Amino acid sequence: MKFRSTGVFFFFLFSFFIGFSQWAFSQELITGKDSASYAIGVSVARSLKASELPPLNNNAFLSGVRAVFENRRLRIDSASLNDIITSYIAKAEKKETEVSTHIRRDLALFETPLALSLHKNTGKAAIDKMESPQLKQLAMALFSGKYDKKYRVATFNANLKPTTLGQELMIGDGYSKYEGITGVYFPIGRHLVLVSGIEPGKEADLLIPNWNRRAPDSTKPDKDPAGWGIKRQVFALRNGANIIDVEGYDGLAYISYYVDEPGKQAPLQVHFVNGQVNGYFDLAKNNDKDWNQLIDNAIYPVIDAVGKHIQIAYPAEACKKYAYGKGVELITQYDSLVHLQHKLLGLIKYNRVPANRILARVNYNYYMFRDGDGVAYMGTDPGNAMALVVDPVRVVKGDPCWGFSHEVGHVHQLRPYLNWGGLGEVSNNIFSLYGTTSFGNKSRISEQKNYQKARDSIISRKICYLQDNDVFNRLIPFWQLQLYFAGAGNNPDFYPDLFEAFRKQGNAERASQRGGRRSNGGWGDRGDNPAPYQLNFVKTACEVSKTDLTDFFDQYGFFYVGQFEFGDYGNYKYELTQEMADKTRAEIKAMNLPQPKVDLTKLED
Ligand SMILES: [Zn+2]
Repeated sequence: MKFRSTGVFFFFLFSFFIGFSQWAFSQELITGKDSASYAIGVSVARSLKASELPPLNNNAFLSGVRAVFENRRLRIDSASLNDIITSYIAKAEKKETEVSTHIRRDLALFETPLALSLHKNTGKAAIDKMESPQLKQLAMALFSGKYDKKYRVATFNANLKPTTLGQELMIGDGYSKYEGITGVYFPIGRHLVLVSGIEPGKEADLLIPNWNRRAPDSTKPDKDPAGWGIKRQVFALRNGANIIDVEGYDGLAYISYYVDEPGKQAPLQVHFVNGQVNGYFDLAKNNDKDWNQLIDNAIYPVIDAVGKHIQIAYPAEACKKYAYGKGVELITQYDSLVHLQHKLLGLIKYNRVPANRILARVNYNYYMFRDGDGVAYMGTDPGNAMALVVDPVRVVKGDPCWGFSHEVGHVHQLRPYLNWGGLGEVSNNIFSLYGTTSFGNKSRISEQKNYQKARDSIISRKICYLQDNDVFNRLIPFWQLQLYFAGAGNNPDFYPDLFEAFRKQGNAERASQRGGRRSNGGWGDRGDNPAPYQLNFVKTACEVSKTDLTDFFDQYGFFYVGQFEFGDYGNYKYELTQEMADKTRAEIKAMNLPQPKVDLTKLED
């Protein structure tokens, strides 16, 4: 996946080019440098245009560009740059429509601001005179006693911001941004939503993502100029009446109400006056009969379902075909796969399991992928993945089990403590192996003979594991630690304890930074050189397991002294000196720990 910082890079480059646009219009492209510069400008501008950035203050951003090029002190803290840009873009994409006086007048006929009942003296004549078609329809239904409030009137608890969760757990912000499932469908057109409970200084939005978005050329769905990500309409909510003008595409509504301390926040009350009810499935409240009713009666092609750790937005048709009568089983299986990762991460042992969920959604661009919004699966041919990810029996078997665990594993990578340069497609697979083998699937690294390959390639050639290009070979030492401690090492909490130790290290490091501020977004900075994190891993693994693992790590080149460069979602320069290696060896020796009972490098599953 691409990181948000790419956008920031473009942002500054683009600013630079706009600032010097006078030059661009008046000069010819003479040298190779001129042409290349021009080409970069065009390419950057195109990608910025596609990203739909809101208008900028040219002078201010030119000043930012110059500050960087002239190495001047920045007027904004480097660590805050990303957050500022992200929140500016988020604010700019919000839509708000002025509420007319006739809506205010009509609302006076109801007893409460949420318009759940009519004033006793509101009669048929007064209703006939109402001007807002939405409120008039509501008043008629209330008057005749035929208003069904189910889904239309609901309470929404605040959720912990995914970025804040990411900082607490030292993972990314990959948890769901769509937790406020409403079960209400909004066709294109004008709708009225009444809200109460937004406290001063807090923000709540109504989101309408386009789950049904298709690529313009259905034969090349992955070549979509709009990209693969979620396109959505965002409406800022205020207490009282909100006009929701749905334009371009219809969709299911979600309340986005994310805060830093959800426990301290009173819930929102929302009345969707005239959306239509699609409904949703909640594992905590519903059974398979409800599930069938939901997919039989859905008025939008996609349905929402939510479990303890997962939420899905899948086509009703696929659910009917592959999971009819099996909603409970489907959501339970997904929950179990996420639960296993929480277990390995030590979130259960250390009472840190988030209330947040991970989103799995349908998409119409690509087979299976993960982005900042969760996991996405293809809903049509070519590359239809629905049979694999909707049938509850198949979800925990083979490729779908691996795929889901792999992608959710990315969401849970601890950065940088167990995701330094070179582990991008490695440390998430500790979770994939744990998830798939826990469900009785064969170990992928065993089937692919990576144990032998790693011995031949890394141990025999005396290279550093990071110099092996096969991500599965690089995974071997990390999984052999699990095999040993789950078996002969008799310490099944090895990884849970190790992850907790890393979280403590991360918190201590953050607290020591200026003012203890949260500087790294959800992601810790991986730095350029993986070696310090690698040595920290070695040392902490010995500490936590109370075992001297020096020889084991030595064989896989964790003490490899030297320099080399490599790529892993960015460029890295490995640099480990004799001094660094000696220091770590000495620190482990000073712990006076027993040797492991067996040679870990021989372990296989
Ligand atoms: Zn991956």
